[in-house]
Amino acid sequence: DLYQNGTYNKWIEKVLTHPNEIRQIYKEVSGSEKPDDWYPLQVICEKCGKVGTTKVTGIKGDKVTYKCMPDMVSWAQGCGHEGEINPYDGRSKLPWKVEWAVKWSGLPVTIEGSGKDHNAAGGSHDISVRICKEILEMPVPYNIPYEFFLTGGAKMSSSKGEGATAKAIGELLPPEILRFLMIQKHPKRPIEFNPEGSTVPVLFDQHDKASEQYFASEPEIPDHGRLFHYSQISDAKPVKHYLPRFTRVIFFLQMPHMDAEKEIAEIKGSKLTVEDKEEVAMRIKYGKKWLDSYAPEDFVF
Ligand SMILES: [Zn+2]
Repeated sequence: DLYQNGTYNKWIEKVLTHPNEIRQIYKEVSGSEKPDDWYPLQVICEKCGKVGTTKVTGIKGDKVTYKCMPDMVSWAQGCGHEGEINPYDGRSKLPWKVEWAVKWSGLPVTIEGSGKDHNAAGGSHDISVRICKEILEMPVPYNIPYEFFLTGGAKMSSSKGEGATAKAIGELLPPEILRFLMIQKHPKRPIEFNPEGSTVPVLFDQHDKASEQYFASEPEIPDHGRLFHYSQISDAKPVKHYLPRFTRVIFFLQMPHMDAEKEIAEIKGSKLTVEDKEEVAMRIKYGKKWLDSYAPEDFVF
């Protein structure tokens, strides 16, 4: 991976030499206070192989000193080993907010005056943004495809031949789902999004699975959880709620005399919360749009 093949080495070095600034960014953005001796890096313990239990205690030339802590985290016990290790070439792991900034920096893209501050779209990833800009001194690439997309610069394929306009796609998908789609794409490649077939329901399903990963206490695919995290438009921390499957909403929408909200509450098996209801309303709204535009015949009856 990008740790092992050395791609991240130069960024790890940058991060390691700016622990105070990174602590400050965490504090200013989210109010989270890291201890004064905190380093934004964890190394793989040479004795027990764990990474989540280690604490870097200092820098020594091209090595770091560390301790494998028996009681630092509740979900794993470190072996107590103390040592020093060269943290490069896959022997360490960055905290994920830092890693995200590093991922951006690894993308072969530069931005000159992208104009709009990406913050307009939401602030949940501000820590990564600031680390990217201020510590790694790299541009934040991901608002590029998003804007590119929204301003109609992207080529989109459509089997109808006329091509779906970016505006049409923007209207077809809720902002979170659109962003979920965008951040998976490489910033420099044209965005191929064919809204026909089962693309839209599949995208909703992927989003919902990513949401499960985000809220899981031990996610199986943490990257998917992060995708969900970075898809958020609102600054507020996402609230776990019931996500009715898009295809089900579509089904209920087409059944005469059926109240989609009521049916979904029945599937959920309990009363819908305020957030659940908002979600249902949103999916009904976009479900109708989809049925009126790109839904293939096997979904329409
Ligand atoms: Zn250990």
